[in-house]
Amino acid sequence: MSKSDCYEVVLKQLDDAARVLNLDPKIKELLQEPMRTFKVSIPVRLDDGSINIFKGLRCQYNDVLGPTKGGVRFHPQVNEDEVKALAAWMTFKCSLAGIPYGGAKGGVECNPKEMSEGELERLSRGFIEAIAPIVGPQKDIPAPDVYTDEKVMSWFMDQYSKMKGVNTPGLVTGKPLVIGGSCGRHTATARGLMYTVREAANALDMDLEGATVVVQGYGNAGSYSAKFLQELGCKIIAVNDSCGGVYNPEGMDAVELMELKEQEGSVCNYSCKERISNEELLTLDCDILIPAALENQITAEVARDVKANLIVEAANGPTTPEADKILSEKGIIVIPDILANAGGVTVSYFEWVQNLYNYYWEKEEVDKKLEKIMVSAFNKVYEAYNKYEDANMRIAAYIVAIERLKDAMVTRGWVVE
Ligand code: NAD
Repeated sequence: MSKSDCYEVVLKQLDDAARVLNLDPKIKELLQEPMRTFKVSIPVRLDDGSINIFKGLRCQYNDVLGPTKGGVRFHPQVNEDEVKALAAWMTFKCSLAGIPYGGAKGGVECNPKEMSEGELERLSRGFIEAIAPIVGPQKDIPAPDVYTDEKVMSWFMDQYSKMKGVNTPGLVTGKPLVIGGSCGRHTATARGLMYTVREAANALDMDLEGATVVVQGYGNAGSYSAKFLQELGCKIIAVNDSCGGVYNPEGMDAVELMELKEQEGSVCNYSCKERISNEELLTLDCDILIPAALENQITAEVARDVKANLIVEAANGPTTPEADKILSEKGIIVIPDILANAGGVTVSYFEWVQNLYNYYWEKEEVDKKLEKIMVSAFNKVYEAYNKYEDANMRIAAYIVAIERLKDAMVTRGWVVE
């Protein structure tokens, strides 16, 4: 499945939920195409004095619930279909979390690995200038994504503030603390994921003490998920990254693995019982499997051999629709991406609120507010899962998200009931 097929996956997920919900076709029509996609050309002076014209885009999928929100990706393979899919997922995720945001996503076709810091800065400033007419704290709020980080967010915020003549931290989230970032943002996705696992364990009568966990992709989301689950008593038995994987049925220390990843850039050299391939890792006998790397990792072929009882999607779109069907038939519960990784955008929302108030919270307050939102979202999804006979947890999550979007559309008069 190619990356651009992500959009077909979104449409299939929307279709499945719409069928169970018997959704009004007009609402479905509004949810299956973005509100607008804005395309820009950005001339950037390179270090050798020449000019390169970069292509960028920003897709604002649906803003019925509030200003749109979503990351900006700098990547050679950025394409319109992928950006549309990611913007759609943001729409459903924000709705499900109950936060007052619509969904968006942006991207610039470039290879940041081959660019100097000066070129990247000029590209970042050029991109935000190009999309300035359609973004802003009350319109659309960008954030980091693949190959964009807090430095890029600082340039976005600084350039936009200079253009407007007013300091505007609420333009973007994922900023460094010193210019209006939020405490707890760095670990928010994993912390939110841990709350969903805790709630699922309660609901499914699963003991987390000694429960075995496998993590694919030991980056930000994966490594902190392992750390937080270890704190709940789980045993981390296998992890990997793009360089390879390590396995020890007796358990490995999540924090030592993080330290090694920090020092060497990989977990590969961790002392363990066995080195394992990506395929072996995904199909290990374990209680909880956390895909935290890329899209389309759990394919139908992999799903047939998956032995985990619970899959928790830290990554966006790691399971293909064919695999989803197989997992459901096998009775494996999946906590879907739009629920499991919603902690990230939730704390981004907190960052924006703090920016608008110009009043900043302690980390404990951020974590407490995050917990409340994640527990509430999990409970709503689990309730829908029990209510609709044909719904797995993913369809249930879409049902909850779509119902809120539908209520807002009806209330605003976009559709009639
Ligand atoms: P990251 O770059 O910090 O980590 C990704 C990790 O995956 C890296 O360690 C990399 O080596 C590893 N990886 C890459 N290809 C792999 C492969 N084929 N097999 C195994 N490992 C591989 O990224 P992240 O921020 O942790 O994001 C991971 C996923 O979580 C993405 O899908 C992202 O969209 C999603 N996500 C992240 C956040 C967040 O706040 N970080 C929020 C929502 C969703």
